[in-house]
Amino acid sequence: MKKTVAVIGAGIAGLTAAYELHKAGFRVTVFEANKYIGGRMSSLSADGFIFDRGADFFVLNYKSIRHYIREFGLVLKKIPGDHVVFRNKGFHRLAFHSLGDIISSRAVGIWSKLRLGLFLLRQQGSDASSYFRDVGTIAQTLNTVPESLLRGNAHALASKLISEEVADYLIDSFTRTMHFHSSKEITGGLLYLVAPMFVSDELSTLCCVSGGMQKLADAFARQLTVHVNAPVEHITQNNGDLVVTPTGKKKCCFDIVVIATPATKVRSFLDSPTKEQKAVLQQVTYAQTITVSYKILTHSLKNIQCAYIPYKENKVIAEFTNEEKKGISAGAYSLVSIGLHEEAAKKLMKQSDEHIFAVVKDEFQKLCPQVKVQNFVLMRHSEAMPKFSYRHIMRVRRFLAHDQGQNNIYFAGDWLNSPWAEGACASGATVAKMIINKHR
Ligand SMILES: Cc1cc2nc3c(=O)[nH]c(=O)nc-3n(C[C@H](O)[C@H](O)[C@H](O)COP(=O)(O)OP(=O)(O)OC[C@H]3O[C@@H](n4cnc5c(N)ncnc54)[C@H](O)[C@@H]3O)c2cc1C
Repeated sequence: MKKTVAVIGAGIAGLTAAYELHKAGFRVTVFEANKYIGGRMSSLSADGFIFDRGADFFVLNYKSIRHYIREFGLVLKKIPGDHVVFRNKGFHRLAFHSLGDIISSRAVGIWSKLRLGLFLLRQQGSDASSYFRDVGTIAQTLNTVPESLLRGNAHALASKLISEEVADYLIDSFTRTMHFHSSKEITGGLLYLVAPMFVSDELSTLCCVSGGMQKLADAFARQLTVHVNAPVEHITQNNGDLVVTPTGKKKCCFDIVVIATPATKVRSFLDSPTKEQKAVLQQVTYAQTITVSYKILTHSLKNIQCAYIPYKENKVIAEFTNEEKKGISAGAYSLVSIGLHEEAAKKLMKQSDEHIFAVVKDEFQKLCPQVKVQNFVLMRHSEAMPKFSYRHIMRVRRFLAHDQGQNNIYFAGDWLNSPWAEGACASGATVAKMIINKHR
């Protein structure tokens, strides 16, 4: 008889696991709390715009995501435009393609550029793309770094090994843009993976799914049975069966459960976790952010694609992206999507939309006084990104090696692999492979 699998959460991790298990002959049912699928990699349609709620770009090196884009016949779109850093009332190009680009950039001074160049030359053997592979590879890369450095944070290490200016204007603003929190909370070891990205064409060429990230989630879901508006309230064990109770729906029994929600959610509905499951779930912490989007006239942001705003320069806005570069426009308008520093997001999280729109607009006008904005949408992300501390990486690695699959319950998601959508997607594929090997 075919084994039955419940997948909880229709984000990219859950959908990938469900799809691979379905292809391998398992009977799979997906339960999703929201009325839409895709989780943090979904899009909304409003006022003629298709707007990505969370993940809005990936790099050429995302092997798993690109594999599924090809498999479903979707179109990969390269995003043109410049990455820039804000400093001294202006934007400075940070081309991110070669050492020469760094040297010609005016984002940091000559002394810092020389120190950075020297640091990068010394790291030439290190493989920054391992950042996108899996937590085991990240841990392996980190194992080549002395433990005293790993236990420190990336900001302190960059200040010591390169310069404080590089730590503030490049490393910290990169991690605040990409991880939504300060490099002071990221293990020092990740400096060895983050810094080489500044000079790697493969890691800095940005792309997206043409027509919006939702297309990928929808392509998965077309092959699957997915219940939306079905938040799971309990998962209990009964004589070897796993009983899943979604709100407003009948209880169902399954042989295997894959939980692909953020770790914080699992704590509330998994009734009797094992000691090891409880321990790994408890140590996960998330960065928070709010993304605030405004309509702007097309061409207002010229060739800027993504702007990093160092914390030293502005305490509210961490970054903004020019959605026009992804081809998003309606009539004469496009969108600017602004991400907040975690410190500001925490303060504003419970405020009204009107208040947040007004605060962020004021700050944005300090950065770009010539650009007129009109409110579009804002989104509060209380679990934007897992924090990849040294402890987190090592704990997850141990869990995956020894404890994944206890009582036929598997975990998947970005928190269990490498960061971002690629980590989540690859985590779903890895879990599916493990279940296929063990249970078929
Ligand atoms: C603002 C923002 C911007 C980002 N930008 C990028 C980017 O540019 N590039 C990139 O690669 N990554 C980016 N990321 C990160 C990326 O979006 C995530 O790493 C990835 O989408 C996580 O996928 P996931 O499947 O692990 O989790 P999720 O997408 O969070 O999926 C989990 C799903 O579980 C559902 N769920 C929760 N509780 C329950 C329950 N009780 N019952 C049933 N379902 C439940 C949720 O509704 C959700 O759909 C961004 C994230 C955010 C927030």
